Amino acid sequence: MGEFIAVYLKDEECAAHEGCRRLISLCPVDIFVEGEGGAAVDEEQVDECTLCGLCWEALPDAVEVRRLYIDEAEARA
Ligand code: SF4
Repeated sequence: MGEFIAVYLKDEECAAHEGCRRLISLCPVDIFVEGEGGAAVDEEQVDECTLCGLCWEALPDAVEVRRLYIDEAEARA
């Protein structure tokens, strides 16, 4: 998890989508890397996320991107 952004992959949904590997080439800022059995999140890179939406549009059930600076504040409200 980054300071501003958190990106999660859901294992079960990724298993149904070839390990979510398509995200690796899809993300313009290389948040996703090859991991065991499929894509994994590069935690060192997550704050580079531009919120472009390509990942959650491609695999809406399998990927979640949270804006910690907003979503966490709303969660506390
Ligand atoms: S929203 Fe865009 S930049 Fe962020 S992880 Fe998804 S594809 Fe990458």
